[in-house]
Amino acid sequence: MAEQESLEFGKADFVLMDTVSMPEFMANLKLRFDKGRIYTFIGEVVVSVNPYKLLNIYGRDTIEQYKGRELYERPPHLFAIADAAYKAMKRRSKDTCIVISGESGAGKTEASKYIMQYIAAITNPSQRAEVERVKNMLLKSNCVLEAFGNAKTNRNDNSSRFGKYMDINFDFKGDPIGGHINNYLLEKSRVIVQQPGERSFHSFYQLLQGGSEQILRSLYLQKSLSSYNYIHVGAQLKSSINDAAEFKVVADAMKVIGFKPEEIQTVYKILAAILHLAIYERLFCWIVTRINDIIEVKNYDTTIHGKNTVIGVLDIYGFEIFDNNSFEQFCINYCNEKLQQLFIQLVLKQEQEEYQREGIPWKHIDYFNNQIIVDLVEQQHKGIIAILDDACMNVGKVTDEMFLEALNSKLAKHGHFSSRKLCASDKILEFDRDFRIRHYAGDVVYSVIGFIDKNKDTLFQDFKRLMYNSSNPVLKNMWPEGKLSITEVTKRPLTAATLFKNSMIALVDNLASKEPYYVRCIKPNEKKSPQIFDEERCRHQVEYLGLLENVRVRRAGFAFRQTYEKFLHRYKMISEFTWPNHDLPSDKEAVKKLIEQCGFQDDVAYGKTKIFIRTPRTLFTLEELRAQM
Ligand code: ATP
Ligand code: MG
Repeated sequence: MAEQESLEFGKADFVLMDTVSMPEFMANLKLRFDKGRIYTFIGEVVVSVNPYKLLNIYGRDTIEQYKGRELYERPPHLFAIADAAYKAMKRRSKDTCIVISGESGAGKTEASKYIMQYIAAITNPSQRAEVERVKNMLLKSNCVLEAFGNAKTNRNDNSSRFGKYMDINFDFKGDPIGGHINNYLLEKSRVIVQQPGERSFHSFYQLLQGGSEQILRSLYLQKSLSSYNYIHVGAQLKSSINDAAEFKVVADAMKVIGFKPEEIQTVYKILAAILHLAIYERLFCWIVTRINDIIEVKNYDTTIHGKNTVIGVLDIYGFEIFDNNSFEQFCINYCNEKLQQLFIQLVLKQEQEEYQREGIPWKHIDYFNNQIIVDLVEQQHKGIIAILDDACMNVGKVTDEMFLEALNSKLAKHGHFSSRKLCASDKILEFDRDFRIRHYAGDVVYSVIGFIDKNKDTLFQDFKRLMYNSSNPVLKNMWPEGKLSITEVTKRPLTAATLFKNSMIALVDNLASKEPYYVRCIKPNEKKSPQIFDEERCRHQVEYLGLLENVRVRRAGFAFRQTYEKFLHRYKMISEFTWPNHDLPSDKEAVKKLIEQCGFQDDVAYGKTKIFIRTPRTLFTLEELRAQM
């Protein structure tokens, strides 16, 4: 159990709720938010509510409080999860990962940065210069990726417009020796169009506002943002963002990471070229690849040094339901279905494995298995992506409406798919171009408009060859397929949806091979206000993050488990048989004696190394008894 702070701060672990109900969950979440307690556990999951103000809870002193402690010994915090992932990795040589999810503005990227800062702070006690250099590069890579992949949106001034998974590699001593970044689905359309009130990627404004006269002159650019079609609307927005200062920070970060001067110069040239003409994703992917070249683990001989272990951090877009949902939301929501599936499997699997390890009979837990929706999207030949790809392969003019027709005919009977054609009386499905998926997190209506074009994602082949034949090696590198012959190039390139599907399957396989830790982020209001807890908005997020389900799974078997030694340490004062020390043959026997004396024997099971307690009430009573002593 998380160290109980005073009860005025509510319950530090949702598992401790008297009843698993939405009202009680919300009341606890709100109480804690109002009291500035933004983190709460569900077992080993951290639920986080964006405070929208700087809290003094990330400093050196807090880091010291969490370092090396067990998860439940300290109040809920990101650092507790980071430390647990680090300990598992170091003590048991386990690869671990931290999956951070939540909607735009919920605090995922900030959480991932605090986690990385924590790991940086607790490692390399002997201050080896090489490790310090690696740590610095890993931290700085965030800053560069944010400049090129983040933008001001109406929901978040620093919104990540790509999904990011970063591996940090550790040596046998537990010190960082390198890393690797995977990026997913950059929202490249932003370069050309932005919603009212939004901007393009930060990098453009940074270059124009922060680049020296000399750089700008060499790129034939003017400082005046209004000269450039793609960004001038966003440029007029009043904002708290200081592009000129950020330009220098990012330029320094690129230098520290190891970008060569001529590479940095080419990056600026391409930004300028984009301002002059429509190729940003390539630039972004090249930057990621370049960072990867530099931060990858080098010279680590596993035969000498033993296994190199990994902590992965995933900061990826959460479920999106907008007024108008398109191809991008379809991909993002599919990604969330995959992650939910993984979550269910792993949480249940972990529970099951723990019961087996401890020799306790496993009881089936009832839960909604969203595999059926994952299949609806990704199944070969039958799923929505396969049907979309089929439509795109057709020769001749294919329209989005024809794609919808194909969906209707192939998915008419699917319980999670519907469209206006299939159920004309359905009021939610207003237009003939819409279809609806019943996601685990709720119903989402998608407009098919644009699906075909976005899926084909054709960059002109001639243009690719032109770029590949450039004398600039950086440009050549960005368009490797330009070297293919015309016949090879036109041979059915993979579609955007299939590429995304493949990357999701690889991501999930990768996460599944690691021990997972979860951070579930919640956005308290739409106004970026530290004072408002918008109940309706929060409840919605709690629903689609499946948090109540999570509490249920956690409590379905046994709400609590604790090693006999730790349990005694906390409760031995309750019984004369255990206080101050016991003379029974083992800690397990001593715990049995204590439990029987309290009359709780029907509510517990005794595992090999741990006691399992079924209901939280028992634990409360133990806590009360302890307090009375
Ligand atoms: P997106 O999906 O759009 O990238 P996100 O979930 O990554 O959103 P962040 O960029 O992490 O959201 O957070 C949005 C803003 O909320 C931050 O810029 C910051 O102002 C504030 N914020 C988030 N977490 C914290 C925190 N722990 N403490 C203080 N402020 C925070
Ligand atoms: Mg983000």
